[in-house]
Amino acid sequence: MIPCSDPLAQYNAYQSEIDSAINKVLSSGRYILGEEVKAFEREFAQYLGVNHCIGVGSGTEALHIALTACGVRQGDEVITVSHTAVATATAIKLCGAKPVFVDIDASTYTMDVDCLQDAISENSKAIVPVHLYGHPADISGIAHFAKANSLYLIEDCAQAHGAAYNNQIVGSFGDLSCFSFYPTKNLGCIGDGGAIACQNPELAKQALLIREYGWEEKFVSSRQGWNSRLDELQAAILRIKLTHLDESNALRCALAQQYHEHLDKTELVLPTTLDHYHHVFHLFVVRTPKRDQLKEFLNRCDIGASIHYPVPIHRQPEFSTPKISLPETEKACQEILSLPLFPELSTKIERVIESILEFEGQHS
Ligand SMILES: *Cc1c(COP(=O)(O)O)cnc(C)c1O
Repeated sequence: MIPCSDPLAQYNAYQSEIDSAINKVLSSGRYILGEEVKAFEREFAQYLGVNHCIGVGSGTEALHIALTACGVRQGDEVITVSHTAVATATAIKLCGAKPVFVDIDASTYTMDVDCLQDAISENSKAIVPVHLYGHPADISGIAHFAKANSLYLIEDCAQAHGAAYNNQIVGSFGDLSCFSFYPTKNLGCIGDGGAIACQNPELAKQALLIREYGWEEKFVSSRQGWNSRLDELQAAILRIKLTHLDESNALRCALAQQYHEHLDKTELVLPTTLDHYHHVFHLFVVRTPKRDQLKEFLNRCDIGASIHYPVPIHRQPEFSTPKISLPETEKACQEILSLPLFPELSTKIERVIESILEFEGQHS
């Protein structure tokens, strides 16, 4: 079986380093907000080139806390995309705010800047672009729009650790930027984890307070907060994985290149990387009207192709907004398929390619 992603393979790749880091934490007796979290926050901030990094419990919580730090609350609107992990919209709703969905650019699957003007209202407070699949959103256009309209810009970087636009790394553009370390992400821990990156000291301070009950001083809440901390074990594991992030992103890119070379002449629409963008291939998403047949064929060959995501958020019961129509989002959901891609896929990619070519032979 070739899975779509394989966190076990990554643990195996760094097992001795990870095991000894875990043992160090176990015998330290300090499991929450100790030296490992502090060191990881410092090292990840340095990697991103930002002043502040705050480790939190998950990517969803990173977004929830970042939005709360910006003062987003009941009655506010937050502009985002419907073509993303549901977590992006969940976090907005957790603040009591309303997600306002805009359509995507069909080539990059990320926020279409031309749709922003129609989405804005007097209640708009923030904008949350998603660097989906590892390709940065049009962050320069979006940042310009956010600034011109006095909106907070919060980047959802959960699928794009290490991606860049014009050699500037994502996570360094927004007022606040949010990362998930869910095990299958480009930088993943062994459980749940997340982080917020930030340049602004006041926003960073608010995020720091919110992650632990609003405590400025221990046991004394100075504002509303709750409990969403990155733990010492996850931070220790992330410190190791961070030292390998660039090399594992390079492996992802080389595998993507191999897909491109061998699938170029098929009917599949392959992922686009725009000029000046560095794509880190969290997922390798192809597009075809025969998506369902191809998925079934690959699954029968024991190849884990899957769909990210099958139902756009504005069509999910919890978020249902029947009136709006997002043609590119709705069309993409019918045709997209994620092929196996993870740094340790290695030569197993050849069997995936052969199977796809076999499918093509049968269906052309
Ligand atoms: C994974 C993901 C999240 C949520 O992260 P969790 O750590 O699972 O809470 C948010 N946004 C996007 C785009 C994601 O892919």
